[in-house]
Amino acid sequence: MRPNRRDFLSQAGTFVFASALLRSVAGASEGQSKTRLILLGTKGGPSVSERGPGNSGRSNPSTLLVINNVPYLVDCGYGASRQLVRAGFELHRLRHIFITHHHSDHNLELGTLLYNAWITGTPVEIDAYGPPGLVKMVQDFFSYQQFDIDTRIVDEGRPDPRKLFACHEFEKPGLVLQNDDVKVSSCFVPHPPIKYAYAYRFDTRDRSIVISGDTAYAPELANFAKGADVLVHEVMYMPAVEALVKQLPNAKRLREHLVAAHTLPADVGKIAAAAGVRMLVLTHFVPGDDPSIADDDWAADARKFFKGRIVVGKDLMEI
Ligand SMILES: [Zn+2]
Ligand SMILES: [Zn+2]
Repeated sequence: MRPNRRDFLSQAGTFVFASALLRSVAGASEGQSKTRLILLGTKGGPSVSERGPGNSGRSNPSTLLVINNVPYLVDCGYGASRQLVRAGFELHRLRHIFITHHHSDHNLELGTLLYNAWITGTPVEIDAYGPPGLVKMVQDFFSYQQFDIDTRIVDEGRPDPRKLFACHEFEKPGLVLQNDDVKVSSCFVPHPPIKYAYAYRFDTRDRSIVISGDTAYAPELANFAKGADVLVHEVMYMPAVEALVKQLPNAKRLREHLVAAHTLPADVGKIAAAAGVRMLVLTHFVPGDDPSIADDDWAADARKFFKGRIVVGKDLMEI
């Protein structure tokens, strides 16, 4: 039976979606290895691109960290399952998903990804963390696919996926997760009109990596990212935005939203410099569909302020 909403009101601040099974399937017997950072999807926004003339071929936002051989995913826009597989990770190996905020380019594939991990047929256990709304989103997805799931449980002898995943909602920034390999913390970032928008910081034995999520220029993010090795930051290129919005009927409104909610390259450079990070990785490109924007267009203004290494992200790039 599907758990009802009351079942989630279990412990202070944590909503446990269901009891988890089969601890630690990934990397348990392998030695400690370097923390890896892999960009799965680098295009800001929910529209879907395909490779070819006239577009960039970037997938929607998703970023992977592999810590001691265990994959940790930040955001899962459309295509995240496919990108994970393309990056060489079987979906059942995924252990932790972090959602920065509830724009669909960051969560559209959350339920689908859980489903896709379950359907591999291999033991799976995933904890998802994110702002309020996460539990209902996953519940609703399982309702949406109830017929299929109930059919396969009986017809194919599969375990009930609704008992395999745990969702943890949180309303305040701070410590999100700590285990032997990593400490994950969060801070609020300004991304109007969304109230709960988080950046995440991963401190592992060998690296500190900060993921900005979607954010307007946020000096407080520099404090949060202080001394990190890598800052992965969203970016918006205004000349291309101006050209893009001119073609749209909702141009004025859309432009206002973008300006209020995202960060220009120069300001990204200021944040990276103030944080004192060693490397700045640009991702969540807005607009992400315009192949005429050269790598240097994204990086040039950031470089005026940040003297460390700047990486203009590409899908499936490992850093
Ligand atoms: Zn976004
Ligand atoms: Zn957003």
